[in-house]
Amino acid sequence: MDFLASDQLRGRGSATPDELAAAKYIAAELRKYGVQPAGDEGGYLQPVTLIKSMIIGPPRLVLRPGYAAPRRATGAPPYVPASVVWTHGRQIVVLRMSRARVSGPLQKIDLAGEPRTVERSAVVFLNAHGGNPREAVRKAADEGAAAVLVPEYPEARERWQEYSSRWPKLSTRVLGTPLGNAVNLAVLSKQASAILEDLPDGTEVMLKAATSAPQVLHTRNVIGKIPGTDPTQADAAILLSAHMDHLGVGKPVNGDSIYNGADDDASGTTAVLELARVLGSGPRPRRTVVLALFGSEELGGLGSTYFREHPPLPLSDFAANLEFEMIGRRDPALQADSLFLTGWERSNLGPALAEHGAHLVGDPHPAENFFARSDNYVLAQKGVVAHTISSYGLHRDYHQPSDDLAHIDFEHLDEAIASLLGPLEWLVNSDFRPEWKAGEKP
Ligand SMILES: [Zn+2]
Repeated sequence: MDFLASDQLRGRGSATPDELAAAKYIAAELRKYGVQPAGDEGGYLQPVTLIKSMIIGPPRLVLRPGYAAPRRATGAPPYVPASVVWTHGRQIVVLRMSRARVSGPLQKIDLAGEPRTVERSAVVFLNAHGGNPREAVRKAADEGAAAVLVPEYPEARERWQEYSSRWPKLSTRVLGTPLGNAVNLAVLSKQASAILEDLPDGTEVMLKAATSAPQVLHTRNVIGKIPGTDPTQADAAILLSAHMDHLGVGKPVNGDSIYNGADDDASGTTAVLELARVLGSGPRPRRTVVLALFGSEELGGLGSTYFREHPPLPLSDFAANLEFEMIGRRDPALQADSLFLTGWERSNLGPALAEHGAHLVGDPHPAENFFARSDNYVLAQKGVVAHTISSYGLHRDYHQPSDDLAHIDFEHLDEAIASLLGPLEWLVNSDFRPEWKAGEKP
């Protein structure tokens, strides 16, 4: 952990040579522990290519001419100009954009009205009648909306200037993985909303922005494996993971520009390495144990997304994933020697580990939605019973240069890892198959 969080590694920036240096170090440690390589070409590393581009001009929403037709049967048709272009910061603010251009036919959904299913690839106008539409937006994106438009709501109006002053960041593409249901989201002013209300469903809508030439970045995962001895458990491997990257070098705070990421997530990486060392040195477990240290988590779980599409064993052969995130400090909301498991109530894995002695409890910060904020979620979305173990107590050094070794509680870290050894040794030698509880699989 000393090395991973040292200034020498410059914060292990996602997809940087510093992340590569961390990866090589981790691979060398795994080799020392007798863990077999499970990356590409017989090595521990699994290289991943990313394509990144930036928005370089204000995004625009275009209602395309020729598709708009008046919807009123009688009287004067509503005023529909031949072509409407709304600009970020003026009639609209664009909060999220996954790629340079998205378009689709307009579908208007009134959240106060009859529930309607989102048509695939539609640009959905969600009228939440002034309420914050966050959840409905997520749902529409998951159902396949190309983009979601919402009328302004009080919070968006208050922050209109702030939102206008910056352009959204495009999601970084992970080569070799399918495009997900990324959220594209624009808030419309009252006037713009009124115009849209009058347009018929099916009107062609496009959200677009000028972007820089795509830049190719290289990241990687480090993957090792301890093969299990019991063929009846060959389809029930256990994945222990953490992310090795952090924010790298950035804006200085109090003269310090290195975002060491000691707690986030050198601590979790250290836990996985220590578990690898112990499990690798004892008798071989009945179940296969895969150890994965992901790259580019901080760019949105990109290393784990690639891993999910190119796993060393079929995903269906993983019985569980435990991700270790930020266990280097105590969570004041918990008893001193405890850790929490995100999504505790969703499966029977946490309670089973606790029964076998883990000082593990439910997440005391449910409003933070940590379950969906780490690599475990990438795998959980594909059905793997996947949780994160953490003791992050919302400390102020989160994503700051001060998340450094000086702020690590080594006694806690040591106890935390030690307390999991017994329960994990039980898990990797048991027949126990963790299961999602009914309706709790994400
Ligand atoms: Zn993290």
